[in-house]
Amino acid sequence: MSMQKIVGVLALQGDFEAHERMLQNALGAKTRLVKTCQELEEADGLVLPGGESTTIVKLMQRIGLYEAIQQRSAEGMPLYGTCAGMILLARSILAREDQPTLGLLDVEVARNAFGRQIDSFEADIPMQLYEGARHQLVHGVFIRAPYITRCGAEVSVLGRYQEKVVAVRQQHILATAFHPELTDDAGVHRYFLQMIEQSQEKRSRT
Ligand code: GLN
Repeated sequence: MSMQKIVGVLALQGDFEAHERMLQNALGAKTRLVKTCQELEEADGLVLPGGESTTIVKLMQRIGLYEAIQQRSAEGMPLYGTCAGMILLARSILAREDQPTLGLLDVEVARNAFGRQIDSFEADIPMQLYEGARHQLVHGVFIRAPYITRCGAEVSVLGRYQEKVVAVRQQHILATAFHPELTDDAGVHRYFLQMIEQSQEKRSRT
């Protein structure tokens, strides 16, 4: 039996509308823009969009969403961060120890890591989303994108670009350095919806 799920999209700053469009239009999911702790309560999973990570973390702290997201994560709520969202989830930022993060994903990231000359580019990333399945190409847009410079033992690498780790999963947390929401490739979002479904099934069994 499929349960009704609500996908929260953190909507403090950044490209949250593109995520909402992809989830609704391409996948028929029910979404909730999250600007308050109350709205987070109504969500079964949360997308953290791209944008400006320093701005988003300040707003999260001001509103109380910083602690609320950490709390929901501790309860197993699925999280998916793209670009700035991945930076927010990370344990630490290379050479930016002063910038606070949620510290939920055991990785270190480098911000704006692909260099200034190439501010943005598009690429097909071979990703292994499903165990035992062959790699599938996922189209992604990189905009002043980070990459991952260190992965903890619990972290699975799902995709690389030019040897750099750009997509990972750690239990209920998914992150990509790029923006699939700015393309018409819904593969990563479909995978995230399945993560939410699996977490709901697990919950209803316990
Ligand atoms: N460079 C931005 C940051 O560090 C992220 C860019 C993006 O999300 N497209 O916050």
